[in-house]
Amino acid sequence: MDCIFCKLAQGEIPTDVLYEDEEIFVFTDQNPQAPVHFLAIPKKHIASLNEADADDAALLGRLLLRIRQIAEDEGFAADGYRVVNNIGQDGGQSVAHIHFHVLAGRSLQWPPG
Ligand code: 5GP
Ligand code: ZN
Repeated sequence: MDCIFCKLAQGEIPTDVLYEDEEIFVFTDQNPQAPVHFLAIPKKHIASLNEADADDAALLGRLLLRIRQIAEDEGFAADGYRVVNNIGQDGGQSVAHIHFHVLAGRSLQWPPG
């Protein structure tokens, strides 16, 4: 499958890895929008939340809790941060492999554009 995030997660293309285990891959966003900006993905190719099914529930739950663990380990959990999942065209999704943006290190604005 010609998916850039699958290639990153499988180590075919080198990237800045923050965390990895058998099912999760976390790496720095190449175009950071905050002092801290990384992406957390399942290694399993799921195109977006729209394509996730009931069997993915535990995986996605572990991914979310892993994000919290990294936030604690990196020291920004207490100050706060934002987790963003863009879905489809109106959601602004540009890579068709589900990913959670994690943004931290500055006061983030709301609402988004
Ligand atoms: P989306 O717009 O789909 O929510 O977010 C895709 C994100 O992936 C963007 O923030 C973009 O900077 C990042 N991205 C796209 N291609 C690559 C890549 O090859 N390497 C890394 N590290 N980030 C990427
Ligand atoms: Zn993929």
